[in-house]
This record gives sequence, C-alpha cells and structure tokens, in this order.
Amino acid sequence: MAKWVYEFGDGAAEGKSEMRDLLGGKGANLAEMANLGLPVPPGFTITTEVCTYFYDHGKTYPPELEAQVNAALEQAGKIAGHVFGDEANPLLVSVRSGSRASMPGMMDTVLNLGLTDSTVEALAKSSGNDRFAYDSYRRFIQMYSNVVLDVDHHLFEDILETFKERKGYSLDTDLTGADWKLMITAYKAKVQEVLGKPFPQDPKAQLWGAIGAVFGSWMNPRAITYRRLQNIPASWGTAVNVQAMVFGNMGETSATGVAFTRNPSTGASELYGEFLINAQGEDVVAGIRTPQNITEAARIEAGSDKPSMETALPEVFAEFLRATELLEKHYRDMQDMEFTVETGKLWMLQTRNGKRTAKASLRIAVEMANDGLITREEAVMRIDPAALDQLLHPTIDPKAERQVVVTGLPASPGAASGEIVFNSDDAEAAKASGRKCILVRVETSPEDIHGMHASEGILTTRGGMTSHAAVVARGMGKPCVSGAGSVRVDYKAGTMTSAGVTFKKGDIITVDGTTGQVIKGAIAMLQPELSGEFATLMEWADGVRRMGVRANAETPTDARVARKFGAEGIGLCRTEHMFFEGDRIVAVREMILADDEAGRRKALAKLLPIQRADFAELFEIMSGLPVCIRLLDPPLHEFLPHTDDEIAEVATSLGVSEDKLRSRASELHEFNPMLGFRGCRLAIAFPEIAEMQARAIFEGAIEAKKKTGAMVTPEIMVPLVFGKTELDLVKASIDAMAKAVETETGDKVPYSVGTMIELPRACLLAAEIAESAEFFSFGTNDLTQTGLGISRDDAASFLGPYTAKGILASDPFVTIDQRGVGELVEIGIARGQKTRPAIKLGICGEHGGDPASIHFCEKVGLTYVSCSPFRVPIARLAAAQAALAVKSKS
Ligand code: ADP
Ligand code: MG
Ligand code: MG
Repeated sequence: MAKWVYEFGDGAAEGKSEMRDLLGGKGANLAEMANLGLPVPPGFTITTEVCTYFYDHGKTYPPELEAQVNAALEQAGKIAGHVFGDEANPLLVSVRSGSRASMPGMMDTVLNLGLTDSTVEALAKSSGNDRFAYDSYRRFIQMYSNVVLDVDHHLFEDILETFKERKGYSLDTDLTGADWKLMITAYKAKVQEVLGKPFPQDPKAQLWGAIGAVFGSWMNPRAITYRRLQNIPASWGTAVNVQAMVFGNMGETSATGVAFTRNPSTGASELYGEFLINAQGEDVVAGIRTPQNITEAARIEAGSDKPSMETALPEVFAEFLRATELLEKHYRDMQDMEFTVETGKLWMLQTRNGKRTAKASLRIAVEMANDGLITREEAVMRIDPAALDQLLHPTIDPKAERQVVVTGLPASPGAASGEIVFNSDDAEAAKASGRKCILVRVETSPEDIHGMHASEGILTTRGGMTSHAAVVARGMGKPCVSGAGSVRVDYKAGTMTSAGVTFKKGDIITVDGTTGQVIKGAIAMLQPELSGEFATLMEWADGVRRMGVRANAETPTDARVARKFGAEGIGLCRTEHMFFEGDRIVAVREMILADDEAGRRKALAKLLPIQRADFAELFEIMSGLPVCIRLLDPPLHEFLPHTDDEIAEVATSLGVSEDKLRSRASELHEFNPMLGFRGCRLAIAFPEIAEMQARAIFEGAIEAKKKTGAMVTPEIMVPLVFGKTELDLVKASIDAMAKAVETETGDKVPYSVGTMIELPRACLLAAEIAESAEFFSFGTNDLTQTGLGISRDDAASFLGPYTAKGILASDPFVTIDQRGVGELVEIGIARGQKTRPAIKLGICGEHGGDPASIHFCEKVGLTYVSCSPFRVPIARLAAAQAALAVKSKS
C-alpha cells in the first residue's frame, strides 16, 4: 500500500532531512529534529506526492489517505495525551504548508484547529484559563476564515478595534476571557453574514478543509508567478504538516519566538532573535507588540528595558541555547528557528538554513571553515558569486533614509551621489573642477564614454539591462540606473522631471544601481571592504581554481582596478575605446574620412604616439602579465561626426569643404553596421591601420620594459575572421612590423598572434584557422548575435516574451546559450585543438563574468575567462566553484 503520511514525535520520526523532496523542507526538518531528540510536538506530514496525485486526479485524494491520516492523528494524540474531536479532552493541531523550497504564496498556517463551541469549553476547563481558551478560539476563527474560507481578515480586525475603543483598551492582552467570548460571537456572526453559512463545527471537516486549502494554494496565482520567476517546476507539489498544538499564550511562563544561530546581517557568531511572552504564532513578526531580545547581550546593545529571554526564562533559555548549538553543528550551517514555550516547557517548531546578507555569508563560511565545521572547499561552494557584487561597490547605508524620486532598472550595481549634468562635456568640466556628477541622458552612445568616465554614476530614461549605458557602466564598475521611463529630460532647459518634481542641472541626486532607485540629495554610503573574510575566501577559491581569470580593460584606471581585484592579465583590450577620448576622435575621423591611403597615413601618424603611450602605460601597470590587444573592431560609422560643429572641425583639420566631407560620410553609411565594414575587414581594406597599431604595441612594450624591467608578451588579436586567409593577411603585416621595429631598436618583443572566434563559420573552420592562430578568444557576444541572428541592440523588444514563453531559458546575452552557441564553441575548440593541441583558449565579453557561463567554460576546458574588472572576484569564485563541481562529477 502506498505510503502517503509520515509520522514524527516523541524522539522519533519516519522521515529525515534527506527526504525533503517528499516531505517538503519544513516536514523533513521537523522529522530530523525529532530524530535528534529535540522536543517537537507530535504530528505527521502528508507527502508532496499527494499534491501531485490531487492535481492528476481532478482534485481528489488517494483512497488510502483518509485512513492513514486518521491513524496518524490517533498516534499524535496518544503522544500528546489528547484525542482529536473529543469533547472532553480535544487534541488541537496546526496545519502548515511546506514545499521543497520555501515559497511565498502558499497557504498561511492555521493554528488551534479542532476548536469548536464545545471543545473550547473543554480547553477552558482543562487549562483552568478562560482567557487563554477563548483567545485561542477567536484566533482560530479568524485564521481559518481568512485562509481557508476566504473571508477578509480586516472584517475581524474592525470588530476587534471597535470593541477595544469602546472599552478603552490599548493592547490585545487587555481583553479578558469574557471579552474574547463576545468577540467569538461577533466573529461567527460575521462569517455567517459573509458566507451565508455557519463557521464549521466539526473538527474533521475543519481539518480536511485546511488540507484542501494547502493543496489548493499550490496553484494560486501568487505561487504560480513565484515558481515561474524562480524556475520551480509545478510538478514538485507541496506537503502538508499537521502537528499537535503547543501554546505560547498560556500566561507569563509561556512565549513564542524566532532566532538565528548567527547574526544574519553581520554574520557574527552570536545567538540572535526575538520572542514575546504570552503570545502565539506569528505575533512576533506581526508587530502587534514590541518583541523582546533573546540574549542579555543583545538586550543591552539594543538598550531595551524589557527583559531578555535569558533573564525572564533562564532554564528554558539554557535548553534552547543547547538546541540551537546542536542544530547548527548537525546541519553544519546557520539555522533560522521557530520555537514556543508552553508553561515553562520548550518546543521546537521549525529549523532551516537561514537567509543572510552577502557580508554575513562570507563571515559565516570562513569562520565555520576555520572552526573545522565545514571544509574550505565547502566554504567556497557556499558563497553565491553574484552576491559578491553587493560587496564590491559602495552601497547606501541601510540606516539612511531614502527619498526615492523614481525607480528604473538596476543596470549596474553600487551607488553614487553627485550633481546632475545632462551631457558628457559638462561631466568632464565638473570632474576637472573637482565636483562629483551624475550623467543624466535619455540614452548614451559611444561618444559619451568620456562623460561616463568623468561621472560617478549614470541615469538613462531609455534602454534596458543590455543597453549601451548598462553594458559600459558595468564595465567601468559605475552605478547605473537605466530605463527610468517616467523621467522626462529636457536637454534645452537643462531639467529633468519626475512625478511632478523638477530637478535642474547642478541639483544633487543619488543613483542606486543595485535597486534601480534614484534618490533626492546625497546620502550616507558604506565603502566596500576587500580585506578580512573576503580576502581569505578569495584565496581559498584561487587555490582550487583551474581556469585563469583576466579582465577586459583598456584604460589605466580599469587596469589598476583589475589588478586590485586579482586579474591575472588582460583578456581584452578594446583599442577603439582609446580612440574616443579627447582630441583623438578628430584624428580618427580624419583617418576614416580621408579618400586615399596618403590621407589615412597622415592621420594615423598623429595617432601613433598616442596609442604607443596608451599601450606603454597599460603594459607598465600589468608589469609582465599577459595583455591581449584586439585590433580596431567597430564599424566605422561609430566614429563619424554627427553635428555641424564636429563636421566643421574635421573639415578644417583635413583642409576640405564641409560639403565634401558630408558626402563622404554618407558614403560610409551602412544599413547593418554590425555585419558591415568592421573587424578584420578594416585591416584588410586599410592595412595601414593594423600596421600603426602593431607598431604602437611593439614600441609600447619596449618602452614599458625600460621602466619596469619586465617584458610583457603582447597577444595581438584579429577580430571577426571567418576563415584563415583573413588572419594570414593581417598576421603578415603584424609580423613585418615586428621585424621592422626590431631592426630599428635592436629590441625583440616576444608576441603571439591569434584571433577572435565570433562567427559560426570561424567555429566550423577552426582547424584551418588554428594553423595560423596561436590562440582563440571566443567572442560570445557576436557569436550569440550571429548564431541566433539576434541583434543585441534590438533584442529588448522581444526577449521578454521569448523568455516568458520558455523559448529561451534566459537572456542569451547574459548567460550563454549552451545548446546552440555553446555547441559552436565546443566545435571551435575541438577543431582548433586538432591542429594545435596546446592552443590557448579564452572567452571575452559579458559571458566571461556570468557564473553560469563560467561553469560552461570550465566544462569545455577553456584556458581563461575575461570579464570587466569589477566582476573579476565574481569570476574567480565562480571558476573555483565550477572546478570543484566538475571535479566532483568525474
Ligand atoms: P511559515 O512557513 O509562514 O513560517 P509556519 O508553519 O512555520 O509558517 O507557522 C508559523 C508559526 O505558527 C510558527 O512559527 C509557530 O510560531 C506557529 N505554529 C505552527 N505550528 C504550531 C504548533 N503546532 N504549535 C504552536 N505553534 C505553532
Ligand atoms: Mg515558520
Ligand atoms: Mg566582437
């Protein structure tokens, strides 16, 4: 006969904590606590399989269930010394939902079930406490009516409030037994009025009503939405726990409370929690009365004048302390517990691994490993890499009061305050005069790079999580709120307006890129702490990591941040970013708009010393670590002048008319620039560009060596090839330039030439490409665009429905599409290694900093991942976890 019900109580249980899938988290842990000999009120768990059965069979139960529930009820009653439904000695129970993963949206717990007009009299008599009995009954009527019968709880609260006012009472505890009796009459009348039928007076009917409501709540809209967001399958089902009641509302030696074995916000190893004397259930969190501290130390720190549990109930406290220590040792993790004290006797009602802040999770993992409770590898596995993000940026002091103006998308984490500027030049001017600013734009473009660099944070009113502003800000490690659609920016007037409030240029605001909030004025911040437990854990992670971790960096600031965060080199230096700054853009435009080679060479000659200095500085900072430089990649149109002023400036510099320049610019216009004149195509059409860049790299390396004594080995990377011939042509001019520089200077720079693999054809022809390429770096951004035929800049409008409908598991620009793009990568690796077994394999682009994608990189055996500097610690930890996961599978 199928077993649908598992009993627990009296120091034993049929279940255990490993049976979470069958019993739900709450049920499995109640069983485990009973097995550990802790005081758990007896009861039973109806399994998640019953829930599945229920929905597979038109909302009916397995035929054996009723008999099994009756038997378990009888057994629980025997242990507790009561009988369910008995008029003289009634057993009362709680009915509690509990699925595998704790899930908001499920039915709230019903307490005191089994009370009726007659059993309440028995309870009053046996306890000798009228007030307690009628208080319990009115709670039951209110809870049951609300969660099972769907009667609005406000109706009951109104009745109670009106009564308290009339009597001049301020607290619920002021009501006497006789008062509660009046309330019960009024509550029952209200139920009759709303439902047209009386409150159920048969305990069995009450019980099955509550069980049905728990299973019913599995399919309520709130639960369904939550499951969709958390990727929890509907097939899991929920369990139902039925448990003998214990009463925290029996008087001054009774209480109820919640506690953590460690402080969940700081991680400090101290019992932390709250309780209330003479209270029941969730009174502690409901805020009806101010809860009291559990320990005396916490009471003193909080400056509370209400006694702690340690002094009010010293014996129970001592027993509770032992139970919490036992549970933490047993589960080997910080526990979040619920308990009740009934006339001086402790009862444990729940335990689970406690939620905690990122900071606390670091401290707890490191301290537990140091104490030998867990291994260092387990400590590494316990930290969510994504949560580290919270720690790497300044954050708003949680105690500070926030005056939120608007909430947009949390596009890049951290927070910053500054005065509003509406364009990049103003941002630079503010920075130059030592003032902090926030760049506010409708959206940003590559021309705003210098303004973004100069500002503390960015706010845009348009664009999503992968908009230009979002991607660049994340790369720079600057806070960004994007897509704040309700803000209206008026560039001309120099104002922004939100919900009727207008801000002018120069007004101070704060952007919180972690929450998406825009806040009026400046606000207190907490600075990131990279020492202590953080440093220890990162060291442990590095000890188990196989892949290297590099950073995508081109500016000296980025490179320094990257090293501070532990990057082992630069995996992607995007040379075009160097072209946007200051006056360089004018020379770049000259080069692009020149009509012949001579004109281009003249402009390139102006750029050479600038690029050389850029590289020299970068090499100096990286002092001997590998630096991978990508030759010019973006479509030329990104550099074209737009405004009349810009055109006039370039025309003067080139000595041509503005009209001529305008027509040259329109010749360069492209319909699909991302599939157009870009990448190695530039170097093939205009070899002199690659030559200049190669010269700058070699000469920069020699210059840096003179300063640091360490010779870097530049890795020169050719973008967007789809076959070997393209690479060969560009490589030939790089090799020629290497010889030329060697002849001129007498210094030989060791270097390698490789390629981005970012087109499907390049993956397929990787064997041939590897004949010339000394390394591959998978450019998974472009490989995703070309593999799925989705332009990243245009994806926002349909990716939402695509992920909602389950066509794509997640945004493929955030987490690599393993099935498709991933297979292209695997093909590229396999074919490349066939030709060149030791070929160096990297990945650059957004995926290099995404934990799930990093896991994939480990699985397919990449040499290193490269990500934005601020994500380096996340990548180090994720790579360590991936290595441990792959190791444990093999
Ligand atoms: P949640 O999942 O929302 O935490 P619980 O099922 O844990 O709901 O119930 C909430 C509270 O109800 C518990 O913390 C406890 O105080 C009280 N409770 C539940 N079952 C019992 C019981 N058998 N006796 C006394 N109190 C109980
Ligand atoms: Mg609970
Ligand atoms: Mg690319």
